Amino acid sequence: MSDFTRRDFIKLMSAAGAASAMGWPIVAQAARRRVVVVGGGFGGATCAKYIRAFDPRLKVTLIEQDTKFVTCPFSNAVLGGLRTIGSITHGYDKLRQNHGVKVIHDRATAIDPAARKVMLAGGKRLRYDRLVVSPGIDFRWGAIESYDEAASQTMPHAWKAGPQTSTLRKQLEQMRDGGVVIIAPPVNPFRCPPGPYERACMIAHYLKQAKPRSKILIYDAKDKFSKQPLFMQGWQKLYPGMIEWIKQSDGGAIERVDPKTRTVYPVFGKPQKGDVVNVIPPQHAGTIAHTAGLVNKDGWCPVNQRTFESAMHKDIHVIGDAAIASPLPKSGFAAGSEAKVCAAAIVASLRGETMPDPSYVNTCYSLVGPEYGISVAAVYRLKGNEIVKVKGAGGVSPKDATDMFRRDEARYAAGWYSSITADVWG
Ligand SMILES: Cc1cc2nc3c(=O)[nH]c(=O)nc-3n(C[C@H](O)[C@H](O)[C@H](O)COP(=O)(O)OP(=O)(O)OC[C@H]3O[C@@H](n4cnc5c(N)ncnc54)[C@H](O)[C@@H]3O)c2cc1C
Repeated sequence: MSDFTRRDFIKLMSAAGAASAMGWPIVAQAARRRVVVVGGGFGGATCAKYIRAFDPRLKVTLIEQDTKFVTCPFSNAVLGGLRTIGSITHGYDKLRQNHGVKVIHDRATAIDPAARKVMLAGGKRLRYDRLVVSPGIDFRWGAIESYDEAASQTMPHAWKAGPQTSTLRKQLEQMRDGGVVIIAPPVNPFRCPPGPYERACMIAHYLKQAKPRSKILIYDAKDKFSKQPLFMQGWQKLYPGMIEWIKQSDGGAIERVDPKTRTVYPVFGKPQKGDVVNVIPPQHAGTIAHTAGLVNKDGWCPVNQRTFESAMHKDIHVIGDAAIASPLPKSGFAAGSEAKVCAAAIVASLRGETMPDPSYVNTCYSLVGPEYGISVAAVYRLKGNEIVKVKGAGGVSPKDATDMFRRDEARYAAGWYSSITADVWG
């Protein structure tokens, strides 16, 4: 007992607070059981942290291939010149130091559900009692003819933040005034439904100052999109004549690209050449989910929506973008909400207890301009075994809001970013 410090006591008390908030006595029934989490993004890092908070006796190991995480949230603001890449980059030291999560930087290459082991590229094999998989998305290369990984160097997707974000920003900086920027959003479902349209706003913000004669063409594989009336109103107000949206039924869906000439070829209608071309390809669950046999025929992971346990393999849970959690969107905030429910379900199951009825939440801000924000929020609960929206909880920003309301929402967006990143990696 002599090496039990005041710091240990405070840590234990805050963990006890979290555990008792779930209605659990802080008794070590699940002592020394091992939970492995693959993926240290919004879903995985949150889940690792909260499992330790709910039961500090559990051994939690987080496997993340990169040493730093660059968030997609606010990466559009980097394209618009409002943020730097450094300001959206996070490390893993606090998860180690403050929350007792063991973090290993390596790539999970295979999972053996029968032996309950995860294999790492570096040669390690980790045994688990419960496994959480939160690998995010990967791209369906070739779904658009000639758009493969090599083509994405010339026509960046920037749909995983990091070097691709910097490449796209550099191309915008090098573009002539009067140039054409093409953004090509994919079919549903995909990561961050409002993201491509926020991107159009942030690029327009930059172009309006630096290259005002330029145009943005959105070649869309869909006929409608998230927060559409609010975005379109914002385009009209801040960037009149600069952004043109070509919907699927008007020839917006593209079937082929030519990276050499930076040309997109719609399914019908004329080819269009761009100076900067941002193709956001169709997506599916991250590769490890495929390797491990966790996906359905569409490439996403079916789960029990109460516990996020995989429908394919016992004792493996899938959360975040990779999981089928609709009507929850594929967002960072939703991934964090799923992560907390999943953490509670894992701790309950290791204690042999029943998981309490969960609720889930999502809030998503988009920046139309530096002082012009819009948002959507919703609360969800279980009905039977399915997630449903709670009627009347949440909603979208009003269409006829004042300038001050829009400015406040832009400030809330910055506050949202600080608090969610502190919750995930802090
Ligand atoms: C432009 C843009 C803007 C966005 N804006 C918002 C926003 O404002 N609000 C919001 O809520 N969401 C936003 N999102 C969506 C958000 O980024 C994702 O929904 C969120 O990152 C999903 O979390 P995740 O844990 O599923 O995946 P990720 O956060 O991508 O984490 C996956 C992690 O797993 C790691 N990994 C994958 N495979 C392996 C492996 N085999 N071994 C080891 N590690 C592995 C990856 O390196 C990565 O770190 C935005 C997305 C984009 C593209």
